[in-house]
Amino acid sequence: MRASNESRASGGEHQARAALGSHSVIVPLSLFDAYIFDLDGTIYLGDELLPGAERLLTQLRAWGKVLRFVSNNPTRDPTMYAEKLTRLGLPIPVDEIINPVVTMTRWLLTTHPDAVVFPISEAPLIRALTEAGIRLSSNPAEVDIVIASYDRGFTYEKLQIAFDAIWFYKRARLVATNPDPYCPLPGGRGEPDAAAVIAAIEACTGTTCEVIIGKPDPLMLHATLQGLNVDLADCLMVGDRLSTDIRMALDAGMASALVLTGGTAASDLEPLPVQQRPNFVLERIDQVLPPSIWQQLGWNDHGSAD
Ligand SMILES: [Mg+2]
Repeated sequence: MRASNESRASGGEHQARAALGSHSVIVPLSLFDAYIFDLDGTIYLGDELLPGAERLLTQLRAWGKVLRFVSNNPTRDPTMYAEKLTRLGLPIPVDEIINPVVTMTRWLLTTHPDAVVFPISEAPLIRALTEAGIRLSSNPAEVDIVIASYDRGFTYEKLQIAFDAIWFYKRARLVATNPDPYCPLPGGRGEPDAAAVIAAIEACTGTTCEVIIGKPDPLMLHATLQGLNVDLADCLMVGDRLSTDIRMALDAGMASALVLTGGTAASDLEPLPVQQRPNFVLERIDQVLPPSIWQQLGWNDHGSAD
C-alpha cells in the first residue's frame, strides 16, 4: 500500500459529482484502480445478492481492477464467505476476503501470543484461534483476554465467565471483533451484533473494551491492502455503514461510497457535517460505475441488464 497523496485524498480527481435518480444520490464520474467492498448490506442482504452486484463485480474484474472484500462479520471465515458467494452465483477468491476472524487471530499472535483467551463467539473464530495455537479456556481464573463477538449462542453462562475473569479475578482485558450494533437482514430486520455483547460485559464489570479489531480500525484496511501496490488516492471504499465502512475510509483519507441498501438511510446523512460524509451516495451498488460507463455498457436505471 502506498501512502495517500494529500492533494488527492478523499476522492481527489474522482471528486466530480453528479445527481442521478434522486437528490440524495452522488455517483463517481470516473473509475478507480481498486475497490474495497463491504459484504453484508453492500454485496448481499441475507441470502440474496443485492441488485447490480453481480454485473458490477463481473465488469470490474473484466477490466482487471483490484477487488477486495472486507466484512466486520465474524460468524464466518473467508472460506465460508467464498462458499456463500459462490452459492449466490458470485465466486470470489478466498484471498480477496478479510474479516475479524483473520485480523483478530493475527492481532493475538502478534501482540499477545501467550495469552489465555475466552472467546464469546461462534465456531469460525474459535476454530481459527485453535488452529493458530492460541490457548483457549473457559476457566475465568486463568483467562487473560475476553473476546466479545457477534455470537448467536451468547448465554448467561458465557457472561458469567467474562464477569468472573474481568471483575472477580481482575485479570482479564476485554477486546472485541467488531463494533456493529446489528447485522442488517432482509425486510428491514437485523440481528444483534457484537456491540450488544460488548455492552453486556461493560455494564456488569464497569470495564471498557480496549481494542475493537474490525472496521473502522485501520488494522482492517492495512490487512486488506497488504501486498498490493495500490495508491490509496485511487482506491474506493464501498459500504453501507457510516460508523465502520465510511469512518475507516475518512480516517485513512481515502474516497468512500455509501450504499443505501443496508444499515443506513439517506436521512442519516442530513445531520452530518460535510467532512464526515462519504464522497458518494449510491442507491444501488452498480452506481459505483460512472453514468458514461452505464451508457457504454447499455445499462439502465432499473438494472434490467442484470
Ligand atoms: Mg455492511
